[in-house]
Amino acid sequence: MSFKTIIEPFRIKTVEPIRRTTREQRAAALVAAGYNLFLLKAEDVLIDLLTDSGTGAMSSRQWAGMMMGDESYAGASSFYRFEAAVRDITGLKHVIPTHQGRAAERILFGSVLKPGDIVPNNTHFDTTRANVEYRKAQALDLPIPESREPQRYHPFKGNMDLEALERVLRDNPGRVPLVMITVTNNSGGGQPVSMANIREARAICNRYGVPLYLDACRFAENAWFIKLREPGYADKTPLEIAREMFGYVDGCTMSAKKDGLANIGGFLALNDDDLAQRCKNLLILSEGFPTYGGLAGYDLEAIAVGLREVLDEDYLRYRIRSVEYLGEICMHNDIPLVLPTGGHAIYLDARAILHHIPWYEYPAWALALVLYLEGGVRSVPIDTVMFGRQPDGTEKPAAMELVRLAFPRRVYTQSHVDYLAEVLIHVRKLAPRIRGVRMVYEPPVLRHFTARFEPLVEGLLAPE
Ligand SMILES: *Cc1c(COP(=O)(O)O)cnc(C)c1O
Repeated sequence: MSFKTIIEPFRIKTVEPIRRTTREQRAAALVAAGYNLFLLKAEDVLIDLLTDSGTGAMSSRQWAGMMMGDESYAGASSFYRFEAAVRDITGLKHVIPTHQGRAAERILFGSVLKPGDIVPNNTHFDTTRANVEYRKAQALDLPIPESREPQRYHPFKGNMDLEALERVLRDNPGRVPLVMITVTNNSGGGQPVSMANIREARAICNRYGVPLYLDACRFAENAWFIKLREPGYADKTPLEIAREMFGYVDGCTMSAKKDGLANIGGFLALNDDDLAQRCKNLLILSEGFPTYGGLAGYDLEAIAVGLREVLDEDYLRYRIRSVEYLGEICMHNDIPLVLPTGGHAIYLDARAILHHIPWYEYPAWALALVLYLEGGVRSVPIDTVMFGRQPDGTEKPAAMELVRLAFPRRVYTQSHVDYLAEVLIHVRKLAPRIRGVRMVYEPPVLRHFTARFEPLVEGLLAPE
């Protein structure tokens, strides 16, 4: 007998209370935060889905591992346990710890990019793009066309457009020092990349003699989707699938705050001896000695254990199902979202929900504010506020107006998800009354983090 209910594959040993607030308190908190959810105090949030980065719960084994942390400056045993865990999964030769993913990116790009170079990727994550552009190189996104249609089903919507990749390599000889594939495709909705796509990208890179790297932040979630959806993988373990994925690449960057199941950390791993040496030299300048790379020994221990736990089938089944379950509730209640649901988040389609709000009144921003006001839920708009300001100073609508609800790992249970569903359905009913916002302070860069707003009608909702 196999029962169909998918349960949280853990029991809870340590609990952290979450604080209920009244609607009046939340309305006041929004005023104090300049109607920017990034500026709220976390204690005023009931369910925090701002990000899945570094917000996960560690296991008793990870906490136990932390007590084994060897804080020696050089050659600590914690480093060797960390290195063994990374090598076991990736098979990559050189393992360089960093304090988080973007440091791995900065060190890699600092070692290989020169001005005018091009880095193709299925979709660059924002820190990846920023680190490429900081080297005066071009970060080129080559997602498959299906990824740009929110409601369109595709089992591997994170795939790279391989024809476009081949064209870029053919037309720019000597200008592409590496190709990257991001698994899962975070900026594209947490969508997976198929094994066939990675394998074929490898073959193309081989033809042009260009190395291929993975941005591996959600490698385990990607492996799970391959197991579920790609012919030939149903009987393989997530570890076997992950090993095959890494087997096609020359290196990877990783944020251990995602599928490392840790609260901080990351790494760069690669095969090229000479490049590894240059990266270690840069690492010493800013992160630290190559056997700790900006982390404490106990962080290395937590990551070493986390990398094994994240490939557990019961964990991955629970994780991906939680997201899919909320997505199904949205579908059945006429709440438009990016489909199919990805690995770590659902993305509400605010343009479809609030079609009466023009882009310059920031519909996704308004929707996220109302989710907080009504239900104490914190999400993040991926929208015109984030992407709209152009280098030439003009403002343009973003390609999509999305609200992302990202799930911290092992933190919330099904009743939290049921509560979320209730809040979403309630806010969907309020949609015709929701009004936009006006930006009253705009910082010069990365404006979404610190911009301040005022609602166009008091309390964000027009009277009934
Ligand atoms: C989070 C993330 C990064 C950057 O990692 P940090 O640890 O936040 O510096 C890079 N790429 C992707 C796809 C990510 O999700």
